[in-house]
Order: sequence, then C-alpha cells, then structure tokens
Amino acid sequence: MAERVLIIGGGLAGLAAATALAARGFRLTLLEARNRLGGRASSFQDDAAEQLIDNCQHVSMGCCTNLAHFFRTIGVGDFMAAQPALYFMTPDRRVSRFAATDWPAPLHLAASFLRAHFLSPLEKLRIAWGLWRLLRDSAGSPLTPAPSPPQGRGESLPVDADSPFADWLARHGQTPRIVARFWGLVLVSALNETPDRIGLRYARKVFLDGFLRHPRGFVVEIPKVPLGRLYGDELQHWLNRHQVEVRWRTGVKRILVEDERVGGVETRGGDSLVAEWYIVAVPDQRLLDLLPVGVVERHAYFANLKNLEHSPITSVHLWWDRPVLTLPHLVIVDGIGQWIFNRHNGGQSPSPSTPLPLKGEGRSFPRAGGQYLQVVVSAARQFRGLGHEEIGRRVVNELRRLMPAARAAQLQKCRVITENAATFSAVPGVDRWRPAQSSPLHNLFVAGDWTATDWPATMEGAVRSGYLAAEALLARCGRPENLLQADLI
Ligand SMILES: Cc1cc2nc3c(=O)[nH]c(=O)nc-3n(C[C@H](O)[C@H](O)[C@H](O)COP(=O)(O)OP(=O)(O)OC[C@H]3O[C@@H](n4cnc5c(N)ncnc54)[C@H](O)[C@@H]3O)c2cc1C
Repeated sequence: MAERVLIIGGGLAGLAAATALAARGFRLTLLEARNRLGGRASSFQDDAAEQLIDNCQHVSMGCCTNLAHFFRTIGVGDFMAAQPALYFMTPDRRVSRFAATDWPAPLHLAASFLRAHFLSPLEKLRIAWGLWRLLRDSAGSPLTPAPSPPQGRGESLPVDADSPFADWLARHGQTPRIVARFWGLVLVSALNETPDRIGLRYARKVFLDGFLRHPRGFVVEIPKVPLGRLYGDELQHWLNRHQVEVRWRTGVKRILVEDERVGGVETRGGDSLVAEWYIVAVPDQRLLDLLPVGVVERHAYFANLKNLEHSPITSVHLWWDRPVLTLPHLVIVDGIGQWIFNRHNGGQSPSPSTPLPLKGEGRSFPRAGGQYLQVVVSAARQFRGLGHEEIGRRVVNELRRLMPAARAAQLQKCRVITENAATFSAVPGVDRWRPAQSSPLHNLFVAGDWTATDWPATMEGAVRSGYLAAEALLARCGRPENLLQADLI
C-alpha cells in the first residue's frame, strides 16, 4: 500500500512537492485554505469587473529552470511568453531597448548597455567595473589581476556574502544616481527590497544568474494568461491522472505533535486527518500559528522564523477606454513603479495576453477597443498610510506624464492591491533564519519560498523548495533521488 502524504498549502511550493511525490507512487492529499490554487502567484475573481484578475503580475526569467520544469510537467509551459527585449523609459519619455547579441556571456548585453540613454559613459564604466567584481569574486579567486577601478576606488576586500550590499556599492564607487538608475532598478523588482536593506549574497545572485552567467538567464517570461489559468484544466488533469486529492477551502487549524512526530492535523472545519508524512507549504508566519507553542520554543529551527522580515508589493490595475501603450511592457527609470505591463493589446508581445472574462463578457473590462495595464510597485513602503484612491491617483498621474496617449484617454476602472507581506526581505544574513526542508519532527517537512533554497522569494524559489522537500522525504524513506533541475549551462 502506497504511503500517504498530506500537503498543507496549494501554492507553487505545495504543488511542486505534490507533482514530485505523486509521480513517485505516494498517495497525495493537498489541503488548501482558499477555493483556488497558486497562493500568492494566482488570480481572483473580481465581481465588479466579472473577470479573473491577477493579484499581481508575475514574471519569470530564463534562469528559473525549476519553475519552467514544473510548468512543463503540468502542461502549461506554452502559457509563458519570452520577451525578446526589455524596454526602459525615463521621465523624459526616452526609451532604451535591451536585447542580447550573439556575443558570449557575460558580454551578450554589452551592446544594449553601451547604448542605454539613461547612464553616462563614466557611470557605465563604474557599473562595468562593479559587475566584473561581482563575477570575479563569485569565482572564488581572481580570474586575472584586478584592474584599477575608476578613480582608484573599490579596493580588494574579502567578500562577506552576508554584508550589506550598500557597503559593497560604496566600496566599489557606485554613486547614488548609479544605484538608483541601475543596481536599484534591477534589485527592487527582483528582490522586492530597496538596495539599502539588501544583503550582498542575493544582490550578487540576481546579477550573476540573471545577467552575467548565461545569455538566456535574463530573458523575462510573462504569462500570456491570467495567473489563475496556470492552475486550470491542465493541472487538474495531471492531478487526476496521478490520483492527487485536492481539498479546497480546507484550512488547517492545528498540527498535532506527539513525541517529536506529527500525529495528524485538525482542519478549521473540525476534521482530523492522518498520514504517514506531512509537508507544510504555507507562508512562514502561518506555520508558527499551526504548531504547538512548545514545539516552536523547543526548536530554534521553527523559532528562528520570527526573525524573517517582509516587504510589501502594490499592483495598480488600470482599464483605459483606448490603447495608451504600444510596447508589451516598460521598466520605469526614476519612477514610482518599476514595471508597467501591457495586459491587453499586447504590443509586440508574441502572444498578446488578455484578461479572461469568466461570465457576463459584456460587463468585463476593458470595453471594446480599450486597454488593461498593470503597474507594479515593489518594496512599496512609500504607500503606507495612503488610501487606494491616493495610490491610484499618483500612479495614474505618472502614467499620464510618461504616456501622452493616456492624457486624452478615459480611465474606466482602477483597482489597487497591496500584499503587505509579499515576500521575505533578503536582508544581510537572512539565510540564518531560513530552515532546511527537513524539520526536527521526524515525519514533517517544510516547503515555501522562505525555506533554504539559495534563492530569493520567487516562484522559482517556491518550486525549488517543493522539490527539495520531496527530495528530503524520499531520502528519509530510504529512496534518495535528486529532483532539482540543473541551472542554465
Ligand atoms: C504581489 C506579489 C508579486 C510577486 N511577483 C513575483 C514575480 O514577478 N516573480 C516571482 O518569481 N515571484 C513573485 N512573487 C513571489 C511569489 O509569488 C512567491 O514567491 C511564491 O508564489 C510563493 O509560493 P509558496 O508556495 O511558497 O507560498 P504561497 O503562494 O503563499 O502559498 C501558500 C498556500 O498555503 C495556503 N495556506 C495558508 N495557510 C493555510 C492553512 N492553514 N491551511 C491550508 N492552506 C493554507 C495559502 O492559501 C496558499 O495557497 C510575488 C509575490 C507577490 C505577493
């Protein structure tokens, strides 16, 4: 008789663990508190607009090999559209296009970088020096004798991955304007944190994995469909075929622990469920709510989670009566938001993405001939204390400054969504608090973007954590197997 595994949480981490273990003969039951799968990377039904709306646009990158593997496994790999180029706009409305050439990494983006209108030649030199140092230091030993940095700064110091990235930037001659227009521009979106709060480890990872190591690493992939559609018929068929039972609207209230083992879980509806193995794939602070206080206090493994800090993301959804943006997206330099996504009338995107009206198409937005944009503001602490109306007003004003077509256009609907604890913050030393997937309780494993994955809080990190939890469980059953997918080579 196959052993039963209970997975708590149907986000990407829980789903990835479920696919890995169901394919290896375990009997899976997945408990999800909501009536939908996908967790933070999902959509919800907007009753007023009668359509499925992403709680925030999510993007992946070429370096996210495990996420791509997961999407292929469940049959939705084709729902992601690679963006052949990235468009950067400054407040004066000038746009620079970033695309790779045939040059080998790390030079594949050099031509675009040299043409970027928003950085001066000296700034580019300083950035190139900084990037070279990140690459060189990651190799462990100098590849060649270090050249002199611009104006003699950036002395060779031992690299402490847990030190503040801000110190590293200052040591390597990166001015506040360079930080705002280059390092910060990339990192705020990638890590959902401001450069002054980020640790060197994950800042370096973003630039190495995303931009320097492989020519495909930086390729941004955007779903052609609302996020919720990624967990639709294809996933359902996969789960049915592998006899995975999904119980929606089944929130777990308590994890019962006896003799350092999980003895069962109690749901909010009062049911008790028992299995041989348990994987908890809920957000970090939720796990603390589910465990008995004594267990948390006894094990630093759990108690350390209280040290994780979190950062908010705000997405502003705007429905216009006419197209105001022709490009598929914009990265905004010196703006309030970092990204504008063209979710309708998808510009040069190979497959324009459209919101999915569920019912009553006549009332769904945008009306015929209109356009749906999403503006994403990461590390959105600047909005604390502001109402949705004021946030929407600021973002719309910025769009009207950047896009002349928006000045004449009528805004049909605006919706502001803020996730206060969108992701954990990749502050210096954060990995001290992130637990491995094997817990001190014999039959309990944890998964989630906040567990020790070597990745920041991303969809890729979540899927990795699910695969790693499955690996840990298999190892404990005496069936060790590597499930993580290789990085780009
Ligand atoms: C606004 C926003 C924008 C983002 N943008 C990006 C992006 O562009 N690219 C990117 O890679 N990442 C992005 N992320 C991060 C990404 O969404 C997460 O890293 C990833 O989805 C986390 O997945 P997870 O499975 O670890 O957790 P979650 O998605 O949080 O899943 C946890 C699941 O557990 C369920 N649950 C909770 N408590 C219980 C309970 N008691 N019983 C049963 N079920 C329970 C929840 O309902 C949820 O479905 C973004 C996140 C946010 C919030």
